[in-house]
Amino acid sequence: MTDENKAEEGVQKPRKLQTPPGIHDILPKDHEYHTFIKKVVRHRARQAGFRRISTPILEFTELFDRSIGEDTDIVEKEMYTFEDKGGRSMTLKPEGTAGVVRAYLQHGMKQLPQPVELYYIEPHFRYDRPQKGRYRMFWQFGFEIIGESDPALDVQCIFLTHKIFQDLGIADRFTIQLNNIGSSKSREKYREALVNYYVGKERSLCENCNARLHKNPLRLLDCKEEDCVILAELAPKFEQFRSKEDTEFHTKVKEFLDELGVKYEENEKLVRGLDYYTQTVWEFWDKETGGQKAVGGGGRFDGLVELLGGEPTPAVGFACGMERIILHMKDAGIGVPSKDNVHIFVAQLGDAAKKKALPLIDALRDKGVHTVGALGKGSMKAQLRLADKFNVPYTLIMGITEVREGTIIIRDMSKGQQKHVKMEKVVGEVVKLIGKDNLDTYSPGEISLTKS
Ligand code: AMP
Repeated sequence: MTDENKAEEGVQKPRKLQTPPGIHDILPKDHEYHTFIKKVVRHRARQAGFRRISTPILEFTELFDRSIGEDTDIVEKEMYTFEDKGGRSMTLKPEGTAGVVRAYLQHGMKQLPQPVELYYIEPHFRYDRPQKGRYRMFWQFGFEIIGESDPALDVQCIFLTHKIFQDLGIADRFTIQLNNIGSSKSREKYREALVNYYVGKERSLCENCNARLHKNPLRLLDCKEEDCVILAELAPKFEQFRSKEDTEFHTKVKEFLDELGVKYEENEKLVRGLDYYTQTVWEFWDKETGGQKAVGGGGRFDGLVELLGGEPTPAVGFACGMERIILHMKDAGIGVPSKDNVHIFVAQLGDAAKKKALPLIDALRDKGVHTVGALGKGSMKAQLRLADKFNVPYTLIMGITEVREGTIIIRDMSKGQQKHVKMEKVVGEVVKLIGKDNLDTYSPGEISLTKS
């Protein structure tokens, strides 16, 4: 039946399937960036004693309601929440910290030497309006230190991010915005003062700020609406409510950053979106666009473990967005090394040659030679064209004669020259041509498995 006939009969042509808005495939070219970033993150994490954790993509919704805070943007508008078949409300994780703290409690990590240092590299989901650098599914790497309160740890987190950005060649594109939002006790007093200040000015506030005034007045301070910005300028400053301990903590953070030579800008308006933050908060801002699309951020969350049912336990951590990092790297013209090149194409004619080709391909791959071949039924000419497309330096050619004589032809693709080699010598010959340094082998440490 033709498409026209189908249309006449009311049969719909199937809709072209695409990813949902704001959700993207990671194609091989971008995977090179992802792989490189993960490598840097894993390397820096190991050096600093962090161990990797993966929490599930899906959690009970109440985990995020309780931790992030019910009147935050994330919980109010951005969560992917649905009911499972058992009628439980489930949510795709919008951020990493809540799951890590849940895991800390669920697996009794309090019994481990404290602080527990964990890192993750995971996808996250937020139902926001998609635009460049703001997606509905995005990757974050994040680090959490749970079980110790020390400004030196906050500084180590900031410094670690800075080092990772240095390794990625983009550290000089950002400013570090730093603030101290105090303990929850001093914040409570500040909240009251803010509510008092804003009450009576509701008519000048945007709809969002009006809705939040009594629930989360701190959020009014980073509203971007013109009138709200003006009112925020004149609002009471947190500094007046910061306790002596908060101030001491903040001063130490700044001293330690100075000691490490890390530049930062104090930003009293920076509160971060989530309820669970206390004391130090920071963000890495693009020097050009400021706070709109921060590339990373973090803070201390001394109350979160208790909020999720544990004993009071201090903690600090941060997360960075991988897509935004990649945008910065590309914008700065930074390429990453690729190991995806193919070294050898094996072309063969006939079934007998294909049979010989399969173990040869396996032997070459085991030696660390990237090898493609024994595919399709094409003529020799078509296979050589394919070899060209793979951009290989050498092609191995096996026809009926070569099979009979137990030889193979090695063709140098750029020079167009070829030579016959005995079958049993070919692996050694290829390894020599590719060069030991270019072979893709595991380093010994990576494959020495243990058995109990
Ligand atoms: P947040 O916890 O919201 O500060 O997020 C930490 C980092 O994740 C941000 O600094 C961004 O780099 C990244 N990020 C957050 N939301 C998104 C999003 N919708 N799309 C892409 N990256 C995001």
